[in-house]
Amino acid sequence: MKSRNSDSFKTNGRIVIVGASLAGLRGAEALRKEGFTGHLTIIGDEPYEPYDRPPLSKQVQKGWVKADHTKLPRMRAIDAEWRLGVAATRLDRTKEVVQLANGDEVPGDALLIATGVRSSIPPVHGLRDAENVHGLHDLSDAKAIREKAANADNIVIIGAGLVGLDAAYAIVEMGKKPVIVEMADTILAANLDARAASVYMAKFEEAGCSFRLGRRVDGTECDASGAVTALTLDDGEQLPCSLVIAAAGVRPSIEFLKNSGVACEQGVTVNEYLAASAAGVYAAGDVTLLSGIWPNAVKQGEAAAMNMCGVPTVYGDAFALKNTVNFFGIVSLSVGRFTASDGDVEYCREARGGYEKVITRDGVPVGVILQGDISRSGFWQYLIKNKINIAAIRKPVRKISFADFYGFEANGEYKWAAPACNNPGFRS
Ligand SMILES: Cc1cc2nc3c(=O)[nH]c(=O)nc-3n(C[C@H](O)[C@H](O)[C@H](O)COP(=O)(O)OP(=O)(O)OC[C@H]3O[C@@H](n4cnc5c(N)ncnc54)[C@H](O)[C@@H]3O)c2cc1C
Repeated sequence: MKSRNSDSFKTNGRIVIVGASLAGLRGAEALRKEGFTGHLTIIGDEPYEPYDRPPLSKQVQKGWVKADHTKLPRMRAIDAEWRLGVAATRLDRTKEVVQLANGDEVPGDALLIATGVRSSIPPVHGLRDAENVHGLHDLSDAKAIREKAANADNIVIIGAGLVGLDAAYAIVEMGKKPVIVEMADTILAANLDARAASVYMAKFEEAGCSFRLGRRVDGTECDASGAVTALTLDDGEQLPCSLVIAAAGVRPSIEFLKNSGVACEQGVTVNEYLAASAAGVYAAGDVTLLSGIWPNAVKQGEAAAMNMCGVPTVYGDAFALKNTVNFFGIVSLSVGRFTASDGDVEYCREARGGYEKVITRDGVPVGVILQGDISRSGFWQYLIKNKINIAAIRKPVRKISFADFYGFEANGEYKWAAPACNNPGFRS
C-alpha cells in the first residue's frame, strides 16, 4: 500500500475496509466524520445487512430479530462502495489490491482489517466436519441452531463462557435441557470469580441444564452420514447428542493475509496506533485479539480511522477486562482483576442480596466484582482507571464514595482532592 500524503490522501485516497461489522463500520463512519472524502470500499463476506452479534441468542430463541434494531451504523448512511457477500481471499501488496473470492480485485492506498474472529471447533475427530456441530458467532450459525434444536432430543454445549451460556439460555427457553461441558472448574471462568459464577450455575441448573465441569471432550461417535451421535469425555462418560454447539474459543479471521507480509502473532499484530507491520495497513476490533468485547471494537475502529486520517490517536484501554453478565435477571459487572494474586488485598461482602468484591494493590483498587446491585460500578471504574489510592480514607470500603475525594475551594466550589497516601493499610 502506498504511503499517504495527508491532504491529498484525504481527498483523493482510496481506503479499503475488510470486515463489514462493528469495528469496520465504526471505522468507516469515523473516516467520513474526520473528513476523508476519497474512495471507500467496504468488503464483507456475510450475505446480510450488517447486524449486532450480542442478540444472536435471541435469534436462536425467537427467529429473526428485525434489522432495524441494530446498533451498528446504518449501512445506507455511509458513503461507500459496498461489496457484501464476498470474501477477501488475498492481500497483494505489490499490486496494492485486495483480491475477492469472485475474482475481482479492489485497489486501495490504505487498508483497515476488521475481520473479527470465528468460532473455533475443538480439534476432536469428526467434530469439525459434522453437519450437526455449530459455533455461535454468525447469523447463519444462529439460524442453523434454531432449526436443528427444534427437533433435537440431546443438545450438548461445549464451553460455559458467555457465548456458551447465551446459547444454553436460548435452548432452555425453547423447552430443552442442554448438557454443558466445560474444561475449567467453574462456569464463566473468564468473567467472574467462583462465588459470583456459582449464582448463575444454580439458576441454570434449576432451569434444567446439567454441567460437566473440569471435563474435556476427547472423542466422538459418528453415524454413516458423519453426524456426531455421542461425545466421549476425558473421564469416559458418553453423552448422546443430536446437536452440538461449540463455544469453546475463537480464532482470528486472518487467512486472507497469508504471505502478504502483514505480521500476525496471534491476531493481526498492531502498535498503540493500531498500525500493522506494513505501511498503510491498520487493524481494529476482535481480529487484533487485544480484546473481545463490543465497546473496545468500537473504540479501536474509531482510533484506527483517526490514525488513517493523520490524527495520531493512541488506543490504550484500561478496561479490556470489563465484563457484564446478565442471566435470569441477575446482573454482574467485573472490571480488572477478579481473583487476587500474592500481595493483593481482597475485600468481599454479601451486599443487598448480591455480592461485592474489591481487590487492591498497595491501596489502589485493581479489580471489582459487583453482583445484583451494580449502582456503584461507575465509581469503582473511575478509581481503577485513574489508579486512585484509597488507603488513606479511614472508612469501611463499602462506605467510600466520590464525596471522600472532594474538598472545597476558598470560593466554596468543589475541588477534587484525592487523599494523600500515608497509610498503605486497607480496612474492610
Ligand atoms: C454470540 C455473541 C454474543 C456477544 N455478546 C457480547 C456482549 O454481550 N457484550 C460485548 O461487549 N460483546 C459481545 N460479543 C462480542 C462482540 O460482538 C464483538 O466484540 C464484536 O462483534 C467485534 O466486532 P468486529 O467488527 O471486530 O468483528 P466481527 O463482529 O466478528 O465482524 C467481522 C466481520 O468480518 C467478516 N469477515 C471475516 N473475514 C472476512 C474476509 N476474509 N472477507 C470479508 N469479510 C470477512 C466476518 O464475517 C464478520 O462479518 C458477543 C459476540 C458473540 C458472537
